[in-house]
Amino acid sequence: MKILLLGAPSAGKGTYASRLKEIYNLPHISAGDLLRDAIKEKNEFGLQAKELMDHGKLVPNEIILKLLKKRLEKKDTQKGFLLDGFPRTSEQAKMMQEISELDKVLNFDLDKQVIIDRCAGRIICKDCGEIFHLKKIIPKVAGICDKCQGELYQRDDDKPEILEKRLNLYHKQTAPLIQFYKDKGILEVIPADVDIRDPNCRIIEDCCEVLDKLKE
Ligand code: AMP
Repeated sequence: MKILLLGAPSAGKGTYASRLKEIYNLPHISAGDLLRDAIKEKNEFGLQAKELMDHGKLVPNEIILKLLKKRLEKKDTQKGFLLDGFPRTSEQAKMMQEISELDKVLNFDLDKQVIIDRCAGRIICKDCGEIFHLKKIIPKVAGICDKCQGELYQRDDDKPEILEKRLNLYHKQTAPLIQFYKDKGILEVIPADVDIRDPNCRIIEDCCEVLDKLKE
């Protein structure tokens, strides 16, 4: 099952992927995380990527392609994967076709104001990646992860002026992929305005309805 999670920054792709990976026993591969890992390792790719990421710009295709191909060589991807953050442009979508044929694309659809509010308060654990929010998902101890006691931080690129750039880039370069995958007949739209902690939230159920059909 080769699944792409598509959606604007802060659509919740990482959160949904972490639930879906437990349900379907598939690895979650996030292009942004691959780059952030390279930055942590301070390798040549990381050093080049950091400057661009901090300014809300896309990193060159060859960097993200090298990291992604290396990740897809690992054994745990044999049964498939939940991919997010790549492809992000029409050019990358064509490259993706050469690497692997996707079975389904889940497009998480949400209002621009919801995105801005989410990013403005998003804080993330440096160690386990758990996501909190300064006003809505408040950690028990300020600045500390409830799950693993790691330190919480705000992504540099979630700051308002950078976020605006990322959203513009998304609408210009990534949103056209919705039509690309619709034309291929593999796109499913998942309404994603509701917070995942809301008891009425059906995002994971909606995803499962789509993905279960692939198993049949
Ligand atoms: P994300 O965690 O998906 O929001 O990605 C964070 C940042 O990593 C983006 O704003 C880009 O700078 C960079 N990035 C992630 N995926 C890609 C990609 N497919 N191509 C180029 N840059 C990327």
